[in-house]
Amino acid sequence: TTHLVWFRNDLRITDNRALHAACEDPQARVIALFIATPEQWKQHEMAPRQAAFIYQHLQSLQHSLAERGIPLHYHQCDDFAASVNWMKGFCETETVDAIFYNKQYEINERLRDDALEKAVGADVLCHAFDDSLLLPPGSVTTGNNEMYKVYTPFRRAFLSRLTESDSRSLPAPKAREHGQKTVMHKLMPFDYPLENIDENFAVGEDAARNQLRSFCREQVQDYLQQRDLPAVDGTSSLSPYLAIGVLSPRQCFNRLRTECPDVLDRTDGGAFGWLNELIWREFYRHLIVAWPKLCKHQPFVGWTDGVHWRHAPEELQAWKEGKTGYPIVDAAMRQLNATGWMHNRLRMIVASFLVKDLLINWREGERYFMSQLLDGDLAANNGGWQWGASTGTDAAPYFRIFNPTTQGERFDKAGRFIKAWIPELSDVPEKDIHTPHRWAEKQHRVLDYPLPIIDHARARKDTLAAFEAAKNRS
Ligand code: FAD
Repeated sequence: TTHLVWFRNDLRITDNRALHAACEDPQARVIALFIATPEQWKQHEMAPRQAAFIYQHLQSLQHSLAERGIPLHYHQCDDFAASVNWMKGFCETETVDAIFYNKQYEINERLRDDALEKAVGADVLCHAFDDSLLLPPGSVTTGNNEMYKVYTPFRRAFLSRLTESDSRSLPAPKAREHGQKTVMHKLMPFDYPLENIDENFAVGEDAARNQLRSFCREQVQDYLQQRDLPAVDGTSSLSPYLAIGVLSPRQCFNRLRTECPDVLDRTDGGAFGWLNELIWREFYRHLIVAWPKLCKHQPFVGWTDGVHWRHAPEELQAWKEGKTGYPIVDAAMRQLNATGWMHNRLRMIVASFLVKDLLINWREGERYFMSQLLDGDLAANNGGWQWGASTGTDAAPYFRIFNPTTQGERFDKAGRFIKAWIPELSDVPEKDIHTPHRWAEKQHRVLDYPLPIIDHARARKDTLAAFEAAKNRS
């Protein structure tokens, strides 16, 4: 028998449910496959740096699989539809008896997998696994068997199910008895613009696991005090690995439990605080399955589609480039553009600024983030944007509007983060860093840094009026 493991966003050999199941029969011939779909990636706005990160991890995966006697086949075609057609032929040529894959929950991915099952017919068994979450979508529901719309009761139900579920991590498969143990073919680079990866994100499962271990050992205790301070390295920075499946959430949870055995009992501790973020990740993925419209650029709260967004291409561009004249916003956007990663607090601040200060459609921000992020993930990104824009489930109420200056003062008081990203402000004293032009005026100096592109107090009023009008019209 031939077992085919189709890798998608689960680029690891440890704790990979599909791979593990495919290897269970010691007699089976196991082969692996990855299909690049550049046209589809373009449609999904995938960041070139994320494509490069995937490519580097594929190379590493190819070696780890080869050591176990499992060859990784690689194919490139345009989009998901083409990948299904091609796979049908591949299964015939390779006389595949069963396909093993880990589910993806986005709508196009789910339709593709349905199409594959139909295309290969009854001769090839398809085994699909819930692997990228601690608990599968649809398994955490209200008394009426519905998905929660509010996070806190979801978390409560989630935690009680989690303690009953089997969340052990699976080992990497053993080397097959038969099968070439060396890499046969070099992987062709994807036909996609590739970009260099920031050096902070090392390649490989080992690197990701080491980072997880040291974070849970040395930093997680201080997570609650540090997680909101962008100048401090207080969060795990593991999101790029979780997004493409170099690391699984079970590995995160189990490592956390090993280092902090009382994580579930001490709900005011840093370890629980970190677990809480992993549960947000689950919440957003469960939501896109319950409401697939979220994958189609639709807001959860329908009336918010009636907001008259401003068409302001120059201001949108200034936001993208980090030239809005609001230092915390600009430093954050420059961090994103340079590294592909942005601190969570800053993601909230820049999202609020785009939507609530510039009154620009949140979809512009969602799209731009996707095109830059190393950790781009539809569910988390859409969830974050719809939260910030007050269009989603359990989102910030529309009248909650961050003041970008006071946010900066609260979370980057001395301007350490700002100065690291905006050299034009290096001479500005700490106490003036959030309002640099006021300082410059007193000093009779001219800064090579833009004036604020919008007046926050006025923008706030306009936004409230725009949301209220849309609500009244609905
Ligand atoms: P940690 O604080 O160490 O958290 C651990 C893990 O939990 C993260 O790696 C991530 O997988 C998950 N997580 C943490 N916070 C959230 C959250 N609010 N929602 C969902 N999962 C979370 N996260 C992405 O992974 N991809 C995205 O495309 C993405 N886009 C976002 C867009 C906006 C507007 C906002 C407000 C948030 C977005 N997030 C996204 C969530 C969050 O900002 C990042 O996951 C986090 O900053 C990653 O850093 P970390 O790994 O150090 O997180």
